[in-house]
Amino acid sequence: MSSRVLPVFDLLLPSNLEEAVGLLSQHGDQAAVMAGGTDLLVGMKVGMSPAFILSLADIQGLDYVAFDAKHGLRIGAMATLSQVVDSKVVNDKYHALWYSAFTNGTPQTRNAGTVVGNILRASPAGDCCCAALAHGGSVLLQGPAGKREVDLDEFWLDYRKTARKPDEVAVELKLKAPEHGYGSGFAALTRSYQDLAKINAAARVIMDGKVCRKVRLAMGAVAPITLRLKEAEKVLTGQEVTDQLLEQMAAAVRKEVKPIDDVRSTAEYRREVAGVLAKRVVQDAIKSVAGPCPYSCFMGA
Ligand SMILES: Cc1cc2nc3c(=O)[nH]c(=O)nc-3n(C[C@H](O)[C@H](O)[C@H](O)COP(=O)(O)OP(=O)(O)OC[C@H]3O[C@@H](n4cnc5c(N)ncnc54)[C@H](O)[C@@H]3O)c2cc1C
Repeated sequence: MSSRVLPVFDLLLPSNLEEAVGLLSQHGDQAAVMAGGTDLLVGMKVGMSPAFILSLADIQGLDYVAFDAKHGLRIGAMATLSQVVDSKVVNDKYHALWYSAFTNGTPQTRNAGTVVGNILRASPAGDCCCAALAHGGSVLLQGPAGKREVDLDEFWLDYRKTARKPDEVAVELKLKAPEHGYGSGFAALTRSYQDLAKINAAARVIMDGKVCRKVRLAMGAVAPITLRLKEAEKVLTGQEVTDQLLEQMAAAVRKEVKPIDDVRSTAEYRREVAGVLAKRVVQDAIKSVAGPCPYSCFMGA
């Protein structure tokens, strides 16, 4: 039932990760981890009722966005969407992720909501999920036995289900270091401004002149989890990118997606636009190889 009043819960406020993991080991799936709370608290007003909320708010040092050319990008569990939007290095080198954060929600939800929360929320329509999957990377988890890394390709198991165990905290999102010729693009279609995506897509390419040396293509809201479109990737890999090739790729995308009808759209519409959107993000990714887009081109200037 929908209500403005939150159900009763106990708030746990650990001051470090070891304490957080200890509390999660004690309370198991009775406890929900909270970063920005922009999804969790909404869920609790429409039926979710965890006995404990374990907030990460008192743990220092989790709000970083750090880059180095060898290891790539690391985004800490408490780094907000706004921090990512304000990061020049993310805009320059991880453009799809930047744009997925920039178009995510409202200024208020971007100031509170986190990128890692978006990944852990595991919504098939999650914008940062889609962009992060296209960039490629992993989630660093900390549990009682220590730290482990799970590749994003294996992180989402089913609708809103991840590889995280109930006694683990997601510490950071890691994205691969950009290679020479690297570019990326993201796009989402929504019913209205600030709505969740009815379909989204992201691409990361590595170009050698006009030839696509490598590509990762991801799409959201077309399956129970954010989908990697491997058949469509095969069409582009090692080929000179022409309009005809992009049409072939779009046809492969339409075969690969598994959309459903829901409140935001129909399966038929999603399948049709999936090909168009995939072409658009691949073209955007290729354009971005030439150089980073200035902020202004995304602010209507
Ligand atoms: C008005 C509004 C607009 C929105 N618009 C968009 C949009 O355009 N695109 C979009 O993708 N989303 C949107 N969202 C959803 C949400 O705001 C984002 O997904 C946000 O990134 C979630 O981050 P958070 O830190 O608030 O997550 P939380 O609400 O804190 O957590 C989300 C889930 O992840 C788990 N979790 C979070 N952090 C961790 C961690 N470190 N370890 C383990 N588990 C963790 C929580 O237990 C919970 O299940 C919107 C929400 C609202 C209210």
